[in-house]
Amino acid sequence: MAVYAHAYKITIEIAKHSLWLQRAFPFTSELTVSPQAKQPPLKQHRKIIHIDMDAYFASVEQLDNPELRGKPVIVGGTPQGRGVVAACSYEARTFGIHSAMPSARAYSLCRHAVFVRPRQDRYQEISHQIRGIFSRYSAFVEPLSIDEAFLDTTVNTLKNPSATHVAQIIRDDIYRTTGLTASAGVSYNKFLAKLASDQDKPNGLTVITPQKARSFLRSLPIRRFYGVGRVTEQKMHGLGIHTGKDLENFSQAELTAAFGSSGCFFYNMVRGIDDRPVQPRQTRKSIGTETTFQKDILQLDDILTILQTLADQVGTALGRKNIGGKTLTLKVRYDDFTTISRSCSKGAGFFSQQDIWNQVPQLVAATEAGLRKIRLLGLTISNLFDDTHPNMLRYKQLLLPFYSTEDNSPTALIAKIRQAKNNVDPFR
Ligand SMILES: [Mg+2]
Repeated sequence: MAVYAHAYKITIEIAKHSLWLQRAFPFTSELTVSPQAKQPPLKQHRKIIHIDMDAYFASVEQLDNPELRGKPVIVGGTPQGRGVVAACSYEARTFGIHSAMPSARAYSLCRHAVFVRPRQDRYQEISHQIRGIFSRYSAFVEPLSIDEAFLDTTVNTLKNPSATHVAQIIRDDIYRTTGLTASAGVSYNKFLAKLASDQDKPNGLTVITPQKARSFLRSLPIRRFYGVGRVTEQKMHGLGIHTGKDLENFSQAELTAAFGSSGCFFYNMVRGIDDRPVQPRQTRKSIGTETTFQKDILQLDDILTILQTLADQVGTALGRKNIGGKTLTLKVRYDDFTTISRSCSKGAGFFSQQDIWNQVPQLVAATEAGLRKIRLLGLTISNLFDDTHPNMLRYKQLLLPFYSTEDNSPTALIAKIRQAKNNVDPFR
């Protein structure tokens, strides 16, 4: 379906980075991240499942260490230190212990609690297993954290029209595979599904049908509405809003006046309207930016200035997304619309503006930049590393420049590279 397009673009305003450049060469620049996963079409009601593992870290500890089962287990800092509770078993919760509480306080509430150091690697390992299970049932899985996810099961691999059945099958599968229990919430939107999974913990399954939604929301304390943090809660209380029922009495205009753009969101939410789609984690293919000039450019210095800005944008985007890639591509469109690209790959990868910039002269040297008028320039990083790639873990320590610093003028460098290739026609 055409409406579910597969790429989105973020427009970067170059003017912010370089005013004079904008004046000299007004152009537009787009940063493209692709591809966007397709969403299932919204026909009637979606069938959304929210799955949340029960007391996840503590349950994993009880699973791996049978002697901890049935005991108040606290995962986190020791009571002697200044650490906090990262997670605790249901047995510990009966003593009033909860996550984010100082460990010392938890100890004072339950002297016989067992304190365990977190083992993040193990939690990640099981989390991957669980995500593998999710992907067997739906292509639309949105992980929210290490132990919870939304699944859109409107279309599912079991071809089962009942999301409640699918949720039960997934819970059984998780238990069979990992030995851990999960709670599930089923509804027609994300907000309600998430509320539902919390209704009957641990090891529960709650369904909120469209018929039940409004009355459920009316009775809901305001702090449990999506997007209501401590500050918003106080503000709501100030307006006399304590439950969904109170919230329902406010008009959209009143809520917008009080809460800005969130006002409309709250107005819809209490009416059971939440159209946010389940967004699968996207597998990006590349991160890049390109720019078209209003006037064609000939001077090499100008070209390099622009490429520096582009390298800066792409480097910033990589940093923001915490990702790197192996291949850098320079795209050049000449004034006659001939478009060429020059790429280079680097095992250690490209992670920053500097990584990219270091390679730019080599790529430029292999084009006719400075000799022919250019109407478009682009830089893209592809062959992106995934989260688990060793380079991703290493890259912060490993910022080795590809070129030695002996020659710091890109123009000189380009001349040098071209000279070295004297006998070879670089434009072939
Ligand atoms: Mg959980």
